Amino acid sequence: MKNTLKNRFIEAAKIIKNARTLVITAGAGAGVDSGLPDYRGDKGFWKSYPMYEPLGINYYDAANPVHFSNDPAFGWGFYAHRIDLYRRTTPHQGFFLLQEWIKRYNMEYFVVTSNVDGQFQKAGFPEDKVYEIHGSIHFLQCLRPCSDDIWENTENIPVDLHTMRARKILRCPHCGDVSRPNVLMFGDFSWISRRSDQQGNNFRAFLKQCPSPLAIIELGAGTAISTIRNMSETLGRKKGAVVIRINPRDYHASPPHISIPCGALEGLQGINRF
Ligand SMILES: [Zn+2]
Repeated sequence: MKNTLKNRFIEAAKIIKNARTLVITAGAGAGVDSGLPDYRGDKGFWKSYPMYEPLGINYYDAANPVHFSNDPAFGWGFYAHRIDLYRRTTPHQGFFLLQEWIKRYNMEYFVVTSNVDGQFQKAGFPEDKVYEIHGSIHFLQCLRPCSDDIWENTENIPVDLHTMRARKILRCPHCGDVSRPNVLMFGDFSWISRRSDQQGNNFRAFLKQCPSPLAIIELGAGTAISTIRNMSETLGRKKGAVVIRINPRDYHASPPHISIPCGALEGLQGINRF
């Protein structure tokens, strides 16, 4: 059989129909088809956030907890903008196809994602089936932190889009200091990983009892921060497991794993045709 894109879709569809457990591993590329930025390189970041270009601030600089202590309104500006964007975003059809397959083929399932955007839950995946390895932007913690408390963010935070400064600064209800999103930032030594660790424990308990064979669908996981790819590859070494890697750039996968060189939505729709 020739290794055309169509044949790869057919092969992937066969693996999924035969699987009794599905693990979905997702990186930044998973949400691009919903219109979300994946911050590829400084140019990519400044395309989404042109106001940071004259300041010489790239993604690594913006996503840094130092701003919350030095200049909370500026620190909050970037995150408040993203929270609003993720709340307004409708997840693309690919998220719903995954749920259809889970139902149709009666599979056990779990989602592992490095995205902090909450899009899987927004698309209808239950909270207890998602492992957010870098936390969730929709939860908050104390900047200090004065305790290991994590709480849901239900506030709207207006942002001045010219200066990227937040017009409101959220505070810790316990000590009154600044609060921050419960996500792992760059150069971050105060992220409280308790919520994510609990999800990780749930995932590992799930892996111990889930039935074989296992299919892993990896969506838009890049090589720059390779946590998600490593996770897929580790799972793919289990007996009978197959990784279906959907990625427009870093798509290499060695047999028996399947490489699908396209975006998440196109890849999932392609598989759905068979
Ligand atoms: Zn506090």
